[in-house]
Amino acid sequence: MDTLLRTHNRLELLHPVPGFAERPCLSPSQRPQNQIFRSSSNKKSHQKWNRNGCARVSASSAILELVPEIKKENLDLDLPLYDPSKGITLDLAVVGGGPAGLAVAQRVSEAGLSVCSIDPFPKLIWPNNYGVWVDEFEALDLLDCLDASWPGAVVYINEQSKKLLDRPYARVNRKQLKSKMMNKCVSNGVKFHQAKVVKVIHQESKSLLICNDGVTIQASVVLDATGFSRCLVQYDKPYNPGYQVAYGILAEVEEHPFDLDKMVFMDWRDSHLNDNSELKERNSRIPTFLYAMPFSSKRIFLEETSLVARPGLRMEDIQERMVARLKHLGIKVKSIEEDERCVIPMGGPLPVLPQRVVGIGGTAGMVHPSTGYMVARTLAAAPVVADSIVQCLGSGGEGIVGEKLSEQVWKDLWPIERRRQREFFCFGMDILLKLDLQGTRRFFNAFFDLEPQYWHGFLSSRLFLPQLIFFGLSLFAHASNTSRLEIMAKGTLPLAKMIRNLIKEKA
Ligand SMILES: Cc1cc2nc3c(=O)[nH]c(=O)nc-3n(C[C@H](O)[C@H](O)[C@H](O)COP(=O)(O)OP(=O)(O)OC[C@H]3O[C@@H](n4cnc5c(N)ncnc54)[C@H](O)[C@@H]3O)c2cc1C
Repeated sequence: MDTLLRTHNRLELLHPVPGFAERPCLSPSQRPQNQIFRSSSNKKSHQKWNRNGCARVSASSAILELVPEIKKENLDLDLPLYDPSKGITLDLAVVGGGPAGLAVAQRVSEAGLSVCSIDPFPKLIWPNNYGVWVDEFEALDLLDCLDASWPGAVVYINEQSKKLLDRPYARVNRKQLKSKMMNKCVSNGVKFHQAKVVKVIHQESKSLLICNDGVTIQASVVLDATGFSRCLVQYDKPYNPGYQVAYGILAEVEEHPFDLDKMVFMDWRDSHLNDNSELKERNSRIPTFLYAMPFSSKRIFLEETSLVARPGLRMEDIQERMVARLKHLGIKVKSIEEDERCVIPMGGPLPVLPQRVVGIGGTAGMVHPSTGYMVARTLAAAPVVADSIVQCLGSGGEGIVGEKLSEQVWKDLWPIERRRQREFFCFGMDILLKLDLQGTRRFFNAFFDLEPQYWHGFLSSRLFLPQLIFFGLSLFAHASNTSRLEIMAKGTLPLAKMIRNLIKEKA
């Protein structure tokens, strides 16, 4: 019998984030008020926002006025289109053409299987400013997809103290990365369909995807790679993530005070708020930091970021803090090439494991719950998911299908070690959620004093449970007495939760 799955996942921010798009899969009656996770703003939305009377917008409006109209740049590429009239059943339909979806489409098609990639904007260059550690992209053989790199990074703990990180960092050349992946997909025979998927109907050995243009696509396997939209993947527990919220601008400035050979990974200084006691108090409770990539003495990406908060901070609050910081640092913005509004759900439950639709990337709980990073981890996991699909379908297409195939793929994506690792990272997130500015500073002071193998491994999801325990003990040993007390006080409940979940998993 056919099973009709209606998507019902909801993700809500307590505070509206103006200018954010809505979750695509939901019908109008299901739509939450404010959603999704990345948008470039345009002047129109600022004007509307001002008229709506957000009290704090005026402080940041001078900068917001410099934000250009939204620029949508497409790849110059002829895409082979999916032909619905043939009514064939594909091996794999990939819903979502972000980094996660394309990486799997590329690899599965390389093995000779038939693949269709479905996305409402298949040629659009991805909008996010992805930052990665160079060693992560080197391991993926993607060094040619970086457009700027820095030999090291700096973390300002406070006015007096900073940490120099001897680990190269880079910005991803998103146009090059997407072109490379799309070209490989095209040469492997992937077909493209420009639409939104609205519904999936499962049969015993295949699924039917219904698109918003009326087209139905049939495939043996359906992969949901729709990012934080979580279009098809189901969750059975209340979705209660923390949120990383950030506002970034790629700007031309008169000058800035940062070294060109170091990116600013975190700047926790707060002297820019000395003249504004209310903002200073807000920041001392839920702190934000500056993340910056200086490309030259006059061109820089600046992003004010709330690492994690539940509920997420208001975008206007973040913008106000950023304006105060830039003024204090003497950074005069002359023009803005693009801006980025970022809301990343972090932690929260994993999707139902297993389930018929398989997933990867944002939709499958793969964001690092303590940092919000994901792109390198997803690209590294894509071959695991792809190879699992290829192996199950078998070269003659007579392998495992339906529920059994999905079960195997989910098992390969989220083996027990990875689930334990994620529990540990969620534990880290739970502690960070509870720390104020002083506690956060003490935490990162100890964190970046660790042996590089520990902090590199933690940030890049390379440590597994035995090493994570050493990591935790080492962090504790490096922490100040106050920080130890804080970790014990704020960590007891999350630790108990983590142990309970680990025991449940074992059972
Ligand atoms: C602003 C921002 C900055 C980030 N910066 C970093 C960073 O610096 N480093 C890092 O590691 N991570 C970063 N992340 C986190 C994460 O790596 C990104 O969100 C990444 O883009 C997720 O990849 P994805 O392929 O899972 O989803 P996405 O990139 O979101 O792609 C999803 C695709 O699915 C499509 N889609 C959605 N719904 C449907 C539907 N119903 N039917 C068909 N298609 C659909 C969308 O159009 C989109 O193309 C950032 C996230 C954001 C939001």
